[in-house]
Amino acid sequence: MDTDTKLAHGRPPALERATIQVYSDGVPGPFYYQRTAHPVGAEAERVLGELDGGEALLFSSGMGATTALVLALLEPGARIAVAEGGYWGTVALLRELTRWGIEVVTFDQTGPPPAADLIWLEPCSNPLLTFPDLDPAIADAHAAGARVVVDNTVLSPLLLRPLEHGADFVLHSATKILAGHHDVLLGVLSCARSEDAARLGAFRTASGIVAAPDPAWLMLRGIKTLGVRVRRQSESALELAARLARHPAVREVRYPGLDDPVAARYVDAFGPLLSFDVADGETAAQVERSLRLIENATSLGGVASTLEARARWEGARIPPGLLRLSVGLEDVEDLWADLSQALGG
Ligand code: PLP
Repeated sequence: MDTDTKLAHGRPPALERATIQVYSDGVPGPFYYQRTAHPVGAEAERVLGELDGGEALLFSSGMGATTALVLALLEPGARIAVAEGGYWGTVALLRELTRWGIEVVTFDQTGPPPAADLIWLEPCSNPLLTFPDLDPAIADAHAAGARVVVDNTVLSPLLLRPLEHGADFVLHSATKILAGHHDVLLGVLSCARSEDAARLGAFRTASGIVAAPDPAWLMLRGIKTLGVRVRRQSESALELAARLARHPAVREVRYPGLDDPVAARYVDAFGPLLSFDVADGETAAQVERSLRLIENATSLGGVASTLEARARWEGARIPPGLLRLSVGLEDVEDLWADLSQALGG
């Protein structure tokens, strides 16, 4: 981003933790109670809004943001069409919410979306790495009266700004690349329309699905290095994906930077996340246990590389030998040395 922000000058906002502020002449100010708003959160939302090109709201986590979006903006009976192979936790939560009268279907996001009230896209879906053709998908959804949310957790606004492609909402698990250091749980929803942001803000205050000042402050600090992290992690991920594709123990590599012409029309780098398949679940477990540098852990987008077999969480939804790798900031040769010794060769 070339856009200048106060943040770029190196001054983080003061970490103000007070839950209350004194009224002025008997009048409550904007930060009168932390569940409504707080100064660090307001600064974080200003920066995120600028990055996304919309009105940003912070939530306690990515799943908190998802919960708020569904409960605040949809009615019972609403149908949500969510990308197949996207984050399993999103699908699990939406299925949980069917108890409240929401209907959920999944669809192949590389094709046109089905009829629904809300279409849920995930470019570089986690962990199958599919990429939707955003412009026609969003135009088709709007023509059919649906609204569109794009989960942009993997790419970040540095690589993709879905609101510029017509999306109504952008969702981030800021836990991942935005904060970037595996020490923060945070979610973001950026809205194209002020009335949606106002409704979500009111719901957030009422429900208490709010972000505290400390994670917001840590995310602001992480965002200072977002540009260099995203570029470096994407370069290393591309290099590792190419080498994995040539490795005899690897059956398939998924990384849009290798061979996805649709993704290449939307982004000029492809983010830190890739997945690849080894022969079976047992081989995948063996690779996990053999790692020396890469952490055998979940989550993605942090400065430390993480790898895990996803079948332990996602079951039969994905191939049993699928390993998900999130590439961090380590030297790419060190990462390759670790991967090749873990893969046996
Ligand atoms: N969306 C994606 C693509 C994710 O990978 C995750 C978490 O793994 C989430 C949403 C949920 O975010 P959080 O863990 O911050 O609740």
